[in-house]
Amino acid sequence: MLTARTKSGTMFSLSNEYEKEKLLILRNNEKFTCPVCGESVSLKLGNQRIYHFAHRSGTVCSDFHESESLYHIEGKLQLYQWLHMQGIPAELEYYDSMIGQRPDIMFHFGGSRYALEYQCSPISEEIFIKRTDAYLQNNYIPFWIIGSKHIKAKRSNIIFSLSNFDYFFLRKAAHRQLVLPSYCPKEKRFHILSSIHPFSIKNATANSFLLSIHKTGIEEILEPKVFNQFNFTKWANEMEKYTINWSLHPSPELNRFLREIYTHNLNLYLLPPEIGLPVSHSLLIQTPPIIWQTYLYVDVFQIKSPNSLIDLKEVERNFNNRIKLNEIIIRNLPQLTSEKPFMAVQEYFQLLERFGVIIKRGESLYQLQKGFTIPNSNREKEERKQEFYQKNRSILEKI
Ligand SMILES: [Zn+2]
Repeated sequence: MLTARTKSGTMFSLSNEYEKEKLLILRNNEKFTCPVCGESVSLKLGNQRIYHFAHRSGTVCSDFHESESLYHIEGKLQLYQWLHMQGIPAELEYYDSMIGQRPDIMFHFGGSRYALEYQCSPISEEIFIKRTDAYLQNNYIPFWIIGSKHIKAKRSNIIFSLSNFDYFFLRKAAHRQLVLPSYCPKEKRFHILSSIHPFSIKNATANSFLLSIHKTGIEEILEPKVFNQFNFTKWANEMEKYTINWSLHPSPELNRFLREIYTHNLNLYLLPPEIGLPVSHSLLIQTPPIIWQTYLYVDVFQIKSPNSLIDLKEVERNFNNRIKLNEIIIRNLPQLTSEKPFMAVQEYFQLLERFGVIIKRGESLYQLQKGFTIPNSNREKEERKQEFYQKNRSILEKI
């Protein structure tokens, strides 16, 4: 930590750049305590590490769940200095005794009060939700930034491996864009992911951009100007590779899925090109698109004859039932509680409408046209796929 209480009760912050000599004198004459637990803390003035306060070993402090890494201390100090340089009223390690929480930085901007949490070590979903909710209930806008070291680019900076923990940091920016902000104190850069389209539980394609902290203002991080660039071909190739890979080593859940679709005369390798498509809110669902869309096909489209009506309310009931049975898993996104996973299904219906598979007939009513054609052979599948991609390229590239 970078702040501590002095004997006289005032707060002392290391964010002001003190010379080491002064701090050495202070260390000999002052007694510092933790503002949260009241235990005494030591002032660490190493040559390698950044100056900071540390609890004595064995202290149990409710506020410090993590032994703070240098990466974390450096990052929060840089973020604090960055806000300070912009003239934004900010307080480092502000302790709110009302809620018993201490965001890394509290700041006021644009008439709102923000609680910035720069998180570099994994915390449980429970703690993440508890802290987020406490901020929301006490007039803070929670603003979580993850340490960039967590964000792993797999190849070519388009494919990212994201854990459930990484997804917690998703927030809604302007125009309902979902963005994942991270910061690296070593490179002194923000790394923002947008247009995240998962094709498996862990992997997604995404747009990624880097912003130097020295050239970036707070607005650009709170409301990043992201342009929607989506490489459908890349996504579709990755999804296919992944599907083959995964069918070779099926997990128990996958086996259950494969068995079920088999009883409906379906085969994972012979699904029509309309199944397994990206939609913008797909990331609200942890289950890969190819699986939840196949379930949708089995529950809705397969049993309907051409021209029959489909009520979205009925679709939602089926969808919720699959969730209840754990066949479709929803992602917990603490900062996006207003976004409902069924939105992904609605978007999928809108997509099918644009392909001419269904026609919209009312608020929540669609009419099935001729239905899906299930390929009989690999060759037929390839032909249908090429034809479908060619015909709908302009739609698919703009998802
Ligand atoms: Zn403490």
